[in-house]
Amino acid sequence: MLKCYPVPLPTYHITPRTRSSSFAVLCITLVTSTALLSTTLSQSASTSALPESKSKTAATAADKAKTTPAKPLAPPKPGVLARLGKTPDWTRLDAYQRSISRTEFQRLLRHNYLQNDESAADLIEILPDRARILKQSNHPQSGYYDLFFLSDSTKTSATAPKILRYWTPPWKMRPALHPPKPLTDLHIVIDPGHIGGEFAQVEERWYRIGENTLPITEGDMTLKVARIMQRNLTALGARVTLTRNDAQPITKLRSEDLKAEAQKWLTRLPGSRKPSAYKLQHTAERLFYLSSEIRTRAEQINNKLKPDLVVCLHFNAEAWGNPKKPDFVSKNHNHILINGCYSQGEIKEDDERLELLLRLLQRTYYYELTMAEEVSKSMRRGTGLPPYTYTGDNAKSVNSNPYIWSRNLLANRIYLCPVIFLEPYVMNNKEVHARVQAGDYKGIRKIGKSYRLSIYREYADSVTAGLVNYFKKQRN
Ligand SMILES: [Zn+2]
Repeated sequence: MLKCYPVPLPTYHITPRTRSSSFAVLCITLVTSTALLSTTLSQSASTSALPESKSKTAATAADKAKTTPAKPLAPPKPGVLARLGKTPDWTRLDAYQRSISRTEFQRLLRHNYLQNDESAADLIEILPDRARILKQSNHPQSGYYDLFFLSDSTKTSATAPKILRYWTPPWKMRPALHPPKPLTDLHIVIDPGHIGGEFAQVEERWYRIGENTLPITEGDMTLKVARIMQRNLTALGARVTLTRNDAQPITKLRSEDLKAEAQKWLTRLPGSRKPSAYKLQHTAERLFYLSSEIRTRAEQINNKLKPDLVVCLHFNAEAWGNPKKPDFVSKNHNHILINGCYSQGEIKEDDERLELLLRLLQRTYYYELTMAEEVSKSMRRGTGLPPYTYTGDNAKSVNSNPYIWSRNLLANRIYLCPVIFLEPYVMNNKEVHARVQAGDYKGIRKIGKSYRLSIYREYADSVTAGLVNYFKKQRN
């Protein structure tokens, strides 16, 4: 068990001047009944730390609360949350009090996590001794969470507190003593992106060109790669778990179950119009295959599996126009995503703000970046693919490696350990299409004018080589 750092005093202080507003804050965030509220006030009133005059005023208020029937409380204002997100429990940050210096906190935020310097304006304020984090972005009266910094001068390896995380950084693992098994002691989760079979069409990760051809379904392709990688990594000593082992989703919910949620989401903003039946169906489907499916995988990863890393496998695609008449493209490329680049809209969502901070405080950035470096090198050698370049502002480059981008996706945000998210091959590239038609095979085969490995083995083997290189370097 990791030891938690002592938690500082609560940030709420009831003073006579601000009692009514503090009262409201407490109602919203801490208690839901007047009885509890009265108890809270009574306890505050008896606190000897309060100056006598304040104690008296507080006691009078408490007496009044006992005798005067309290007005019913207004229901708490719902916070701004991501799709199917839960109201954040800010006490999860208690374990990270005084575990990071102001300099490092600021550097990680600016360099990796914020899309630009304004992204966290009014949401995360950096003071000399602490970060002041707004708890509910649409309701500032709900208060702030104070995350105190580790003083720069006291930061030494001997005094730095342990960081709470369920995964083990590679430098903490015993050195890989046996060269044939460099991945011993590691638990790796492989997340085959998307769902397969009939669901590929719902997810719009599907196309077919030609009469007697196999359909291209990303979720089935990622599962094939995952199985080969599982075999590779297990032979090298790792314990490997797949988030799914067939073409079925792991969430029990389906779009029909999420219609009411979709309706709520589409009409959440004041003045929203009644959504069309098509829009409602489309949103319910996205809530199923994206939000609910990935959140269910996250629950499994964070609460049950608790791996040392997650590898998310995907294939990329370029716009294929009309799905009924898709076109081939000449482009083919690769890139690797690590978590970061949160927009202001994303940081405004209370649950995302907490998730960003948990990743920052666990320092996943350093591990994801170093691992992505090694995997990008081995994938470059193995696939020969050039890097993909983002032209919008939804991803940012964090070093000089053109293959690595920082981007905030649900999976690489809520799987709470180092995650690398792989996007090699353009599925609607003509050569990739031909290689998928050839299926999985041993050795090499002539595809077009050249001899190629099976696309699945090339993908799996090059990622495996990168992970081996990373752990060999980091564990020794
Ligand atoms: Zn994908």
